[in-house]
Amino acid sequence: MELLNQIRAVVGDAGLITGEEVAIRPGDWRGRTSCSAWAVVRPRTTAEFSEVMKLCYAARQPVVPAGGLTGLVRGHAVDANELQLSFERMRNIQSIDPVGRTMIVEAGVPLQAVQEAAAEHGLLYGVDLSARGSCTIGGNISTNAGGNTVIRYGMTRENVLGLEAVLADGTVVSSMSSLLKNNTGYDLKQLFIGSEGTLGLVTRAVLRLHPAPISEATAIVAFDSFEKLTQFLLLAGSRLGGMIRSFEVMWNNFYEIIGVRSGRHRPPLAAGHEVYVIVEVAGTDIERDEAIFQDVLTVALEKGIAADAVVAASKSQRDAIWAIREDVEGEIIMMDPATDFDVSLPIVQMQEYVRELQNSLRTEFGEDALMTVYGHVGDNNLHLLVSPRPWSDEAKRRVQEMVYRPLAVLGGSVSAEHGIGLSKREWLPLSRGAEELALMRRIKAALDPHNLLNRGKILAR
Ligand SMILES: Cc1cc2nc3c(=O)[nH]c(=O)nc-3n(C[C@H](O)[C@H](O)[C@H](O)COP(=O)(O)OP(=O)(O)OC[C@H]3O[C@@H](n4cnc5c(N)ncnc54)[C@H](O)[C@@H]3O)c2cc1C
Repeated sequence: MELLNQIRAVVGDAGLITGEEVAIRPGDWRGRTSCSAWAVVRPRTTAEFSEVMKLCYAARQPVVPAGGLTGLVRGHAVDANELQLSFERMRNIQSIDPVGRTMIVEAGVPLQAVQEAAAEHGLLYGVDLSARGSCTIGGNISTNAGGNTVIRYGMTRENVLGLEAVLADGTVVSSMSSLLKNNTGYDLKQLFIGSEGTLGLVTRAVLRLHPAPISEATAIVAFDSFEKLTQFLLLAGSRLGGMIRSFEVMWNNFYEIIGVRSGRHRPPLAAGHEVYVIVEVAGTDIERDEAIFQDVLTVALEKGIAADAVVAASKSQRDAIWAIREDVEGEIIMMDPATDFDVSLPIVQMQEYVRELQNSLRTEFGEDALMTVYGHVGDNNLHLLVSPRPWSDEAKRRVQEMVYRPLAVLGGSVSAEHGIGLSKREWLPLSRGAEELALMRRIKAALDPHNLLNRGKILAR
């Protein structure tokens, strides 16, 4: 209680939530669980975060940073001995520099607010994911979020020029450079990007912006084999180059179950083709870009690479196409109970990997086992949702083995973009070597010797 009183003196009454009010707060973005922290601390400035950490350091009090709670690997999970440090009162967009194309934001700003603020200046922030309304920039940075436009703009890592972090002992490290070129020793910001709150609390960031595109076009294209899809990826890459903003592939199992069987959509193409891709381009010349895009699709159809294609003729048609791909609720309704995966592997191995997985599932669980697959194929990334029937913890475990183990042989990764958190910790050695893990432990011990920041996430002690 002594510690809470000291913290209250720093953040004020509104900055500290204790007792029964803690459990009223959500434990995840959809409010399916409730917060189980000892107390929730809501500082309003970097200085307050620093003071709070100094107190926690002195008291050896473990903390868990919390953004929008949309993380999918239990990275924000908090227990009754831990304090949750929330960024919900750090929501200011501090400045935008339209000439240098940068934006300075506090960590609690939702991704969508950043996107909208950039748009007001004719600019664009290159990271986009369907949790945009709830996830925060601090959470995106801490998980190095990817999303739908990585093929064009890279992951969060490529879109952060500088940041400010509070260390376990309360030290504020300001690396708020807005320079594109800055080779002055170790790139310290990279320590905090993707480290899931285990090395420091990200309090502010300098984001890199891009000119907003003037022309945009979206199509959904069907292919009768994965090989033809890869031919299209090469064709589109050579003709459209940097104009490609998204290349989102849905296997027929996903398109059919979510797009058709759920009854929640008006699918633009018939189900039954092997794979579908949503391809989206963005450029600077409406007439020229549209002509090239149409031409690429025509060539693909004429050469028998694509089996069918529809170009969105309006924003509502575009939204309808994306609605299938982003229908998380539909997936839950159609697939629950299920276990989800976010893996990467070389594109050339994908079809064989998916086919073998489908076969193993059938052999072990019979025809009733459901699997949907979609992914950011241009970025090597597949998302799988698997529902073995009948559902049990052992069945879930078997499915995890089936999905993860082959990745070690294929040079794949057990986490493409969601991170490790608690959920994937035991599978991490399949993707990282013993020396890499040992170095991660040394970095953690150097920055957080008392294991106070998001302890047990990524690495077990
Ligand atoms: C519908 C849906 C779609 C999604 N799509 C994608 C996708 O396409 N690509 C993708 O990469 N992810 C995706 N995600 C996962 C998730 O949105 C991202 O991981 C997101 O970056 C998390 O942000 P958050 O603010 O919700 O962070 P939280 O969930 O609150 O936290 C995530 C992790 O970061 C830590 N953390 C949070 N804020 C800070 C901070 N300021 N300083 C230090 N540590 C911090 C937490 O302790 C935790 O370990 C999706 C999630 C949902 C629910």
